[in-house]
This record gives sequence, structure tokens and C-alpha cells, in this order.
Amino acid sequence: EDWPAAKVRQTFVEYFTKQQGLEHTFWPSSSVIPYDDPTLLFANAGMNQYKPLFLGTADPNTSLSKLKRAVNSQKCIRAGGKHNDLDDVGKDSYHHTFFEMLGNWSFGDYFKKEAITMSWDLLTRVYGLPKDRLYVTYFEGDASLGLEPDLEANEIHFDRIGGRNAAHLVNQDDPDVLEIWNNVFIAFNREQDSSLRTLPAQHIDTGMGFERLVSCLQNKSSNYDTDVFTPLFDKIQEMTGARSYTGKLGAEDVDGIDTAYRVLADHVRTLTFAISDGGVPSNNGRGYVLRRILRRGARYASSKFGVKIGSFFSELAPTLIKELGPFFPELDSRTADLKEILDDEEESFARTLYRGEALFDKYASKAQAEGNTTLNGIDVWRLYDTFGFPGDLTRIMAEERGLTVDEEAFEKAKQESYEISKAGGKNKGKETVKLDVHDLGALEQNADVPKTNDDAKFQLG
Ligand code: ATP
Repeated sequence: EDWPAAKVRQTFVEYFTKQQGLEHTFWPSSSVIPYDDPTLLFANAGMNQYKPLFLGTADPNTSLSKLKRAVNSQKCIRAGGKHNDLDDVGKDSYHHTFFEMLGNWSFGDYFKKEAITMSWDLLTRVYGLPKDRLYVTYFEGDASLGLEPDLEANEIHFDRIGGRNAAHLVNQDDPDVLEIWNNVFIAFNREQDSSLRTLPAQHIDTGMGFERLVSCLQNKSSNYDTDVFTPLFDKIQEMTGARSYTGKLGAEDVDGIDTAYRVLADHVRTLTFAISDGGVPSNNGRGYVLRRILRRGARYASSKFGVKIGSFFSELAPTLIKELGPFFPELDSRTADLKEILDDEEESFARTLYRGEALFDKYASKAQAEGNTTLNGIDVWRLYDTFGFPGDLTRIMAEERGLTVDEEAFEKAKQESYEISKAGGKNKGKETVKLDVHDLGALEQNADVPKTNDDAKFQLG
């Protein structure tokens, strides 16, 4: 059977909404920008919006409080705060900064047995995934065994290769044995004194990576080889005249073009969804995450595809909106704002990108001529302060030249610069930039939210 991405998503939703006797309510994804939760940078799991139900704090006058069973595909961004997959993006085949998390929930309704039975039935009978390629890690220990529907399950993994016993490869960061679905059974709360309290009601919280599931169903060894990403690759190729995408990873991607394809296709998704939900690139908090993502992407477009940046992302975005607009109608509602915000941000970076790159080259060549393998931290700071090069972007550029960044000296230069600006000294005009970067750090440290679904089991309340 063929499994185009849209059908995979629709099948998931319908499996639960039409479940006889356990009909789930389709409850739309929340915004990726969590307006009412300052501790969370971006929505990073399906359960975020249901936290009040697990904690028993939902306002009884809301329709949320009446939910017994729910299903949806949640828009997630993991690019900052406790949950940050940004540095893996482009390098591996299964982490994105933006992804969809398919989920089903029970709020004091069905529990383990039904949840496990349904996930097994959906994966094997409905989607037709071979049973001998599915593995489950149990909550109590790390033993990985074939799934038995009546046991307590936690994480479900799929072996992309098959025809072997892959149990020993589970949870080893093996890209061919990947975690697809996390089932969490919420029965306890971890109290302040770290004891476990039995909750008055038991809940189910599950999360399945949509792009990973699609790759399994389409029999691909990478999420990027599915129709979630190929329309974006085709468009990038059409826009740039670059060679075709060949799926090479790491050192095998000799010219770095495949990596650039992955980064750009990933980043346009994050930017488009975040901006459509009200995010704006800026110098602090969430906005600074978006700014870093856009600048990183713009520099890949420029250096790997020779693009004259200024409207790269806004030209690519409609391809994404065409694919995902039917399921996420909010994408279609702000296209004019989206274009304006993307172009403003890209143009403003274009003004400093080329001079910054020239300066970087000078610094890098100087370091190499002196036989150094590290880039001077003060130089890295100057690239940030004067040319708007986020530290992580300079780190990528350094890595491409076989250099690392002297992080300690970078931190020191940053701190010294803050001291000067706090004392009201020189560079006064740049004060906002500096203080705002502090804000980002504070926000990240304070992001006291469950890191993963299974952490949630013990961190509620
Ligand atoms: P991993 O260890 O593989 O990064 P995780 O333990 O962080 O995953 P969970 O927090 O349990 O993942 O999220 C539930 C599901 O969401 C995962 O099983 C996976 O399928 C998917 N997922 C998580 N992070 C990403 C990501 N960055 N990109 C794509 N899918 C993801």
C-alpha cells in the first residue's frame, strides 16, 4: 500500500476519532508560540497544551476541561531551551527543528491496556508495519523485546533494515533503529520531597514523530527521502540550479550540498510555522532563536548555492504552504506578513553577511597561518557584535575550516562587553542587543517544563 504523508496523518487521526466505544475528539494543534507559558520557548510536545488537565488545574468553564480523549498532530519546535535539536539538523536523517508529533490522549479515561492495544493495532494492522521490525523499551529497564500488547510499553522503535535481530541497537543513536512512538502512562506525580504520589486519575500521553513514521511506511532510510521533504528539495533545485539531492551524510557529503538542502528544507518549515503563529525574529528569547535559524539558513543558501540572499525563504515558503496548508489552515492566513517578515530579516542580514564572511576568512586564515586550530574568542565576539553573526553560525563556519572556537575567550569577551554597556560606556546604541542575549540565557535556564514525554511522568506539578 502507498503511504503519502497526508494519508499517514489522516489515517492516524481517523483511527482514533472513529475508535468504536473510545471515540477521540480531534483537538487542533496548539500554536508553536506558547503565548500563555513564558517558561516554554516553543511548543515541544503534544502534551504541552493539556498540562492543565494532567495537573487538574483546567478552568471548568472551558471546553478543554471536558475532554476525555483527544487526538491530533501537534506542531513542535525543538531549537532552544532544554530541548534543542538544532545542532543535529542537516547532519542526521531523523532530527528536525520543526516536526509534527502525532498523539492520542486519555484524561482519566482509558489506560495502559487500551493504549498499548491501539498503538500495536494501528502500527501493524492498519499501517502494516512488520511486527518483527518493531521493538519496545519497557519503562522499568532497558531490555528490548518484541512487543507484546499486554505489557507496559514506553518507547516503540522501528528497524529500518529488517531481517535481523536489532534489539541491541535500540537506544544506541543508530539512525536505522529509530524511536518512533513514545507511550507515557501517567499514574504518579513526583512530589517536592521526590516521593511518588498516586494521582487521583490515570492518564495516557503519547507522541509519535510524524516524519519518522512516514519514512518507515515509505520504506526510506531517511526522513528527508519522503514526500514531506522532496517537494522542498525540488523547489530549492529549481530556484538555485544546484545539482540534485543525493542523500549523503557527514563526510560523504563532500561538497556539503546535501547538508545544505536538509538545513534549508528544515529551516523554512520552522520559520514559516513560527511566523504564521505570530513569531518574529528579534534580539531576544524566541525571536532570537528564529533570527539565528534564518541567518544560519541564509548563509547556507549563499555559500553552498550561490544565492543572492534577500528573498530566499519567502520564495521557498509557498511550496511548503501548498503541501501543509490543507491540514494547518493558519499557514494560509498570514502569507503577506510572512513574506514581509522573512524578507526584512533576510535583507538586513544580507547587508552584513558578505563583509562578515570576508572578516571571518581573514580571522580564520590568520589562525591557520599561525598554526592554531582554534579561532580567537574575541574575533568570534566581534563577528557577533558588529556583523550580527550568531555564535552558532560562526561555529559552523569554523568547523568547515577545521577550526574550533575558543569558547572561554568568547564568553569573556561577551561578558566584558556587557560590563561596558551596563556601565553606560561606549557602544550604548547596542545595549538592547546585549541585554537581550542575556534574556535568552535566562529564559533557557528557567524553561522548567518537561523535557520529554517520559520526564513528564515525574515532573507534573
Ligand atoms: P530522540 O531521542 O530520538 O531525539 P526524544 O526522546 O527526544 O527522541 P520524545 O520527546 O519522546 O523524543 O518525542 C516523541 C517522538 O517525537 C519521538 O519518538 C520521535 O519520533 C519524535 N521526535 C522527537 N524529537 C524529534 C525531532 N527533533 N525531529 C523529529 N522527530 C522527533
